[in-house]
Amino acid sequence: MSQNLPACPRCSSAYTYESGALIACSQCFHEWSPAADEPSAASAPVVRDAVGNVLVDGDAVTIVKDLKVKGAGGPIKVGTKVRGIRIVDGVGDHDLEAKVPGFGPMQLKSSVVRKA
Ligand SMILES: [Zn+2]
Repeated sequence: MSQNLPACPRCSSAYTYESGALIACSQCFHEWSPAADEPSAASAPVVRDAVGNVLVDGDAVTIVKDLKVKGAGGPIKVGTKVRGIRIVDGVGDHDLEAKVPGFGPMQLKSSVVRKA
């Protein structure tokens, strides 16, 4: 075949073929739309804090409600400052990762922080 079809995005196989409006992979049987080849799907989602500010890597935030921490002696208190957050695709709806003073690195939800 001399068609210029993209490789499979799932298994990277070059053995792809046209299947109607879709491209199909003969190796893992993944089917996708060639129009979905845009970078939009790969870009990170916008993460906002409790009041709607957009958060980015490296921001400092303040905790806006007491957070229970499994295995810790007590909750993370309201007003705790956390520096150098990272936007992550975390467990459940946790979308931030940061080192919380007194607790260490952990994942947080953007809904419980406010940009400092
Ligand atoms: Zn494949």
